This record gives sequence, C-alpha cells and structure tokens, in this order.
Amino acid sequence: MPYNRETAGKGGHSDFVRNPDVQLFLSNCDYMRPPSDDEAKAIASQFTNAPKGEPPILPNFIVASDASKSDAPINDKLPCTQLGFIKVSHVLVSMEKYAELIDPKSRFVDPFKAADMHRNAQPITYVLPGSNIKYRNSKTVRDGFRLAVFDQFNANRRDNTNRMVLTETLLALNNNKIKINKCPSCRESIEELEFLTSSLVHKCPKCSVDIYITDWLRLHEGISDFGDNASAMTRMMNAVEHLLLGSFILELLNSTPSALNKIAFVVDGPLALFGEPAKLHQRLMFLIHEVNNKLAQLALEPVLVMGLQKTGNVMDHANLLERFLPNGVIRVIDDMYRHTYITGSDSPSDNFGSETYYGQDFLFKTERGRIFNFALPYPFADKGANGADFANEKVQLERYGSLIERACDLIRHFEFDLYDNAIVPVALAHRHASISLVPGGKVLDLLTRAGLSS
Ligand SMILES: [Zn+2]
Repeated sequence: MPYNRETAGKGGHSDFVRNPDVQLFLSNCDYMRPPSDDEAKAIASQFTNAPKGEPPILPNFIVASDASKSDAPINDKLPCTQLGFIKVSHVLVSMEKYAELIDPKSRFVDPFKAADMHRNAQPITYVLPGSNIKYRNSKTVRDGFRLAVFDQFNANRRDNTNRMVLTETLLALNNNKIKINKCPSCRESIEELEFLTSSLVHKCPKCSVDIYITDWLRLHEGISDFGDNASAMTRMMNAVEHLLLGSFILELLNSTPSALNKIAFVVDGPLALFGEPAKLHQRLMFLIHEVNNKLAQLALEPVLVMGLQKTGNVMDHANLLERFLPNGVIRVIDDMYRHTYITGSDSPSDNFGSETYYGQDFLFKTERGRIFNFALPYPFADKGANGADFANEKVQLERYGSLIERACDLIRHFEFDLYDNAIVPVALAHRHASISLVPGGKVLDLLTRAGLSS
C-alpha cells in the first residue's frame, strides 16, 4: 500500500470541517477523540513489557511485500476509459546481507548495497480493463474483466519448469476443488459446477458464457461498464497480495517445509481480505495452521507471518496514545479494547473481523520509542462455530508460542530511523513498488535456490 496516500482533497478539508452545518452534524456523531490525560494513563496501564529474546531468534531471510495500483484513464482525451494496473513487489532480504548493509555506528544504509538488494526483487504485475474497455471480444466490461483475471492468474509467473500459477494456488488452498453455483454473467442459479486442475473453465448451462475458476473470488462483482472501478481494483490488489503469500508458503511447504522456519514473511497491511474475495481469509488461516502443524512435527517453531500496518484506526489510536506509553511495551488488541478505545462502539460485535481477518492485531512501542501495529495469524485451523469463544481464544497470548517475541525482535532489528514506523524490508519493498522492472516470480526462484534446503 502506498504511503501518504491520504490527501486533503480538493479545496483542503479543514475548510469544510469549519462549516457550521458540518460542525452541527459532527456534534451528533461518535468518533475517535484524543483521550484525556487520565483516560490515556488508564489505557497505558494495560500495556505490559514487550517480550525480548536473549539472544533474539531472528530468521535467515525476510520476504516483504508491498502492493500498489493505479486505475488511470488510458489517455487525457478519454477520461472515462480506464485501465487498472496492479503491482505486487517482493523483496527478499538475507540477514547476512543486511548486516553488511548497515553501518553499526551511524546506522546508515549503504545506498549501493541497498540498490543491490533491489535487483533481487521483481514486481508481479496485472493489467485489467476498467470502465469502457472490453477485453478479447467480451460482451461486457465485466465479462472481459473476468477473462483478464483468469488469463493472468493462469499464467506462469516464473521461468522454465518452475511454476507460480495463481489458479493452482487457488485450487491448492481449496482442497483442489472449487465450486460455483451462480453464473457470474447472467447471474442465474445453476447446477453446481466443479472446477479442477483439469477443468478450469465451464460454459454456463443457461447463457453459454464461459465461467472461470477465478470467478470464485467474485472480484468482477464490483465492475460496471461505465462506472469507476477503482474499488474493484483495490479488492483485486488485496487478494493478489495474499494469494501470492499463500503461493510462496505452499511452494515451500511442498518442497522444503523446514525452510519455512528460517523465513519471515512481512505483509504491508492487516492480515485480512475485504469485500467480495474475503472468504479467502479462512483458507490462508487454515494453510498457515497446517504449516505450523508440519513444523511442529519436525520439532520446529511456527512460521513467522506478520502484517504491519502503517495507517488505519489502530495506528490513529496509537498516535494519540503514544506520548503516554513508556518504551518497550505491548498490548494485544482484544475486541473490548478495540470497541472501547478505537472504534468507539457501544455494542461490541461477537468477534471483530469475523468475515475478513486471519490475524490478530498487537500494538508495540519499541525500546527506541517507535510505535508499530503488527498482526500475527490466528493460531487456529478455523474460527469455530461460536464467535464469542473465538474472540476470547484469539487473544490468549500463550497460543502464539514464540511468535510474539520473534515479531518484536524482528521489528527491533529492522526498525530504522529513516523510515517512519516502517521496517527496512517493507520500506525497500515499497520503494521497489514504484520502480518499474520486468515482471516475474524471481523472488520465489531465489528463495528456493538460496540454500534453504537443510
Ligand atoms: Zn449464465
């Protein structure tokens, strides 16, 4: 996610907030306000000392991802004819190389060595039709969007015999079978169609239009022929970033599971999927749980997958609270805390993020005084039948084993004054997301080749 995306908009937003109608409206609303000193001290007292490894257990490699998108008109004269462009960048950082990168005295990053690290990164790109563009003779923009998603998910993003194909990832995450019972084109209910490795496309029995395995993600539902398709592109970007994470993890699970113990995966943003493809969050949660069972069988610690959020409600709250918190403290964001201090809701739902999140949020203020909102995958195969039970269990810290300590240690190691509340690998991935290079799945090639076999 790009940094500093928030803009004041046309005319400057402070002008409109001063408008008396807006002020009157606001007086009738509940929203996040700075806590009073007493409130803030009461909240701060709920934080505890952050765990710290002596010595810290750090991974050998970090894979950090950052996604960006643009949905711009194809040219100035056709402002309503829009293309979507999604780019997911991964940076692979080896701990050994990182040690060479930073001068321990000045904590200055050597720009030449950092540039070298960028050469180990390749963005994976997706181009999609937005409004007013029909792809490959499709009847509608939406049908063309579905076909474009299928074509690009079904393309191999690696070289030669190595594979990174997102339709295969989708199948693997769904026990190799995907079912669709409603036509995405005519929207009629149909007899359930089964999509397997050998049958990725079916014809709708009612309208004869092709239905693709990727329609299961329902990304096309936000697409209209002439409207603004920006939010559909955002959903797609979010889904792709997490599917690629799933793809990396699956590849290593099947080839060298023990390697997963040496790698930390860092996603920029929450461990969650929103909107139409949100159901995918359950599959990722299940996959990570399966990986950790496998690692436990090998007597290894669970894989460190971490979401880092630079913006959002939790960070807004953190910024209001920051000056009241001592350094080196942590707090798990349970639902009650979230509803009392962050979302300001009187009626906490049974389970925050039940349809979207696969990771638990934590707030961590480092010993150097920087504040981070990180997330760790829920340590369960699924969320069970009772949301209230899950809401309690997901915040029982002992269930996370070594992960909280390892997440804090990783953040401490990579926190860097130059990047405001980012850690170096994410900042590198982010910077990389704005550098154009040839598409490819090179990070996965490097990972599997980088001496990971043990
Ligand atoms: Zn149909």
